[in-house]
Amino acid sequence: MATTKQPKTTKKKTTPSKSTQTKNKAEQFEYKAEMKQLLHLIVHSLYTHPEIFLRELISNASDALNKIRFRMLTDTDVLDPDASLRITVELDSKKQTFSIEDSGDGMTKDDLINEIGTVAKSGTVEFLKQMQKNDKPLDGNLIGQFGVGFYSVFMVTDNVTIETRHADKNSTGYRWVSSGEGKFTVEEIDKKTRGTKVSFKLKKEHQDFSEEFRVKNTIKKYSNFVDFPIFVDKEEVNRVSAVWHQQKNKVKEEELTEFYKFISNDFNAPLGHLHLSLEGAVNFKALIFLPETAPETFMREHLEKSLQLYSNKIFIQDDCKELLPEYLRFLKGVVDTEDLPLNVSREVTQSSPVMMKIKNVLVSKILAWFGDLAKNDKGKYDKFYKNFGPIFKTGVNSDFANKEKLIELLRFETTKTQKGELSSLKEYVSRMTKDQKEIYYISGEHRESIERNPNLEYFAKNGIEVLLLSDPFDVFIVPGLNEYDKKPVQSIDKADLDLKEDKKDGKKKELGKDVAKSLIEVFKKTLGDKVEDVIASKRLVDSAATLVVGKEGMDKQMEKMMQMMNKDYAGSKKILEINLSHPLIKNLGKKLIADDTDAVLRSSMMQLYEGALLIEGSLTSPNEYVTRMTELMVEATK
Ligand code: ADP
Repeated sequence: MATTKQPKTTKKKTTPSKSTQTKNKAEQFEYKAEMKQLLHLIVHSLYTHPEIFLRELISNASDALNKIRFRMLTDTDVLDPDASLRITVELDSKKQTFSIEDSGDGMTKDDLINEIGTVAKSGTVEFLKQMQKNDKPLDGNLIGQFGVGFYSVFMVTDNVTIETRHADKNSTGYRWVSSGEGKFTVEEIDKKTRGTKVSFKLKKEHQDFSEEFRVKNTIKKYSNFVDFPIFVDKEEVNRVSAVWHQQKNKVKEEELTEFYKFISNDFNAPLGHLHLSLEGAVNFKALIFLPETAPETFMREHLEKSLQLYSNKIFIQDDCKELLPEYLRFLKGVVDTEDLPLNVSREVTQSSPVMMKIKNVLVSKILAWFGDLAKNDKGKYDKFYKNFGPIFKTGVNSDFANKEKLIELLRFETTKTQKGELSSLKEYVSRMTKDQKEIYYISGEHRESIERNPNLEYFAKNGIEVLLLSDPFDVFIVPGLNEYDKKPVQSIDKADLDLKEDKKDGKKKELGKDVAKSLIEVFKKTLGDKVEDVIASKRLVDSAATLVVGKEGMDKQMEKMMQMMNKDYAGSKKILEINLSHPLIKNLGKKLIADDTDAVLRSSMMQLYEGALLIEGSLTSPNEYVTRMTELMVEATK
């Protein structure tokens, strides 16, 4: 079974330069600079998990075996067509040597030069350097998630030999030797059999890897589910079983966890799993895992290693993109179907109606599984949602067929939940009061800043619950919902909210109508085209002023993101609402009556407007703001 393979196309070719020809006809090559850096980092930083080398070598052997098995489905005209597909490890604890041999597809001279001298995953070197710089230990999980490939072998040895012969009948054998210090040699050898053998002498401090006990245990830990028998000194050590083919109730939890760790390279147990066996219009078995944690940002590309496709227990391809939509690609697992022809190619899987059918069934089963989880194990569901929510919720916009189900699976913090506690829309609706006709939301960078938003004052005072959207992806989804359970979904930042006047504790004394009208006129003149309008507010309780969005305006948080992406994007003008019962506004009213040319009047208005911008996080001229404030303070302290 393949584990960490990257599709060939994404490989960065770093063909090394050929330098000299040595006496015994071995050609000498030099690694590219990037490779040298990687080697240095491997030897000096990765020491904490030296046993990883074994997993990497076995994974390479298993990939090579998968390739030849796949080729032989349609083409048996290869070298050693009857050779058994297996991996053989030989140890000599006296001489402290280690070797691993496979009967896979082998390598040509070009492969040895181009594939082995290559940093497989772009960004690997940068990432490792960063980790080293930050003094972050490369713990098992990190190494587990990306793997350093063949070169991890230099953690345990100073000198490696590869002997290989490609599966084509007319191929030649080659020996590759390197001390990992910038150079390697390649020479022709007389090798009779197909496949690859990697051998070396262990460094003193790692001689335990020449002992059977140590090696067998390590193989059981990391490679138990490799789909080919692994022999250590002639004894078979791995289990070789297709876990997904077993009956659901017969598979033990530990076995599933072990299998998950094997296919995901995750060191943690999964958060949950889904085991399917379907017969009927479409036939397939699947074992799908939900990881407990999301990978680091750098690792996002590893989200791409989602599902492996098998055809009746035979490995067809890794990371089969056709099986899951983008928003579910954080899941790991295996899908095995008999409905595909055995000699299926990538092109076939891409356009096959069978794949489409499997995908549709799979997605609806997965969403039902999440639904169960949400209902029966809220703790687990919320954990999943916090980790993968940002990717998962994008499904609402992209998967039209499952939109309703996905909306039920959305979660939010609200003004009535504790920090970190999540609520569904259904739960929100169940808490709505009789008079409440709409579902309200407000967006912002994080809970604390949203909670300070003056636009919430009315809702807090009247006990109306508001969804708090602090995940950037929320603003791409919630405004588009329009309604849920026949209730309009409304941003409380909008100007045209239908808010009831405050009856409970009687109306606070407001500014007289005529003065208010004149004051608003002066506000409009002072602010000019900075705002779309100035109006009296129904929503403010404690604050003097706030900015809201016009009828056609975009969500403020969304607008901020648009501005981040495009510096020239100006955004729409806002409406300034003023609180006619606030002492400051009332004082401004008095000033207006006394002397409508008073400079303090206009400075205060400007200051109120910019203060509202500041709260929103969109004030671009802090200098002017502070200068004006100083002037006002000078006035006040005269
Ligand atoms: P990765 O396995 O992530 O591609 P490696 O450095 O481990 O990176 O291996 C590089 C490449 O060398 C493989 O992709 C494969 O083409 C080739 N290779 C390594 N080991 C073997 C092997 N045992 N048999 C055939 N090819 C191999």
